[in-house]
Amino acid sequence: MVRALYPGSFDPVTNGHLDIMERASVLFNEVLVSVLRNVSKNCTFSVEERIDMIKASTGHLKNLKIVESKGLVADFAREQEAPVIIRGLRAVSDFDVELKMALMNRHLNNDLETVFLMTRAKYLYLNSSLIREIASFNGNVSDFVPPNVVERLQKKYNE
Ligand code: ADP
Repeated sequence: MVRALYPGSFDPVTNGHLDIMERASVLFNEVLVSVLRNVSKNCTFSVEERIDMIKASTGHLKNLKIVESKGLVADFAREQEAPVIIRGLRAVSDFDVELKMALMNRHLNNDLETVFLMTRAKYLYLNSSLIREIASFNGNVSDFVPPNVVERLQKKYNE
């Protein structure tokens, strides 16, 4: 039985994230998506909103759970008895950041393995901040995020 942790900001969740969640749920017995209450990043959506948006799009993945996490990912993985962290990789620029993070997480928790899943070509340039920017100018993001996220973005930027 292997439980894997997929940590991220998911501000908001995109089809790129959802693709990684679907693929991870096939590879591992249980996938715990941990939504980071990140103090260093100023998120647009609250943790509760980010969790709701993921839940609304992942009901079909029976071995997936969505939780909030604070503090270090390495500590949270230990607490949750998850020996694997999943991360998605897009461009080479992700590699640089992710390598540092994987090595540091291994230093902090020697039992932890980081597993990288390559993005699909169609999601290569997809990230949450680009989606927020387009949505804030009333642009159409429906090819990149699920319908419930389109609605939430429209509400958020029309407030
Ligand atoms: P970011 O790291 O871009 O601020 P998140 O923290 O929400 O965004 O990302 C969580 C994880 O999902 C990271 O490992 C990130 O590389 C991965 N990810 C984000 N967007 C995509 C995508 N389009 N395809 C594959 N992986 C992605």
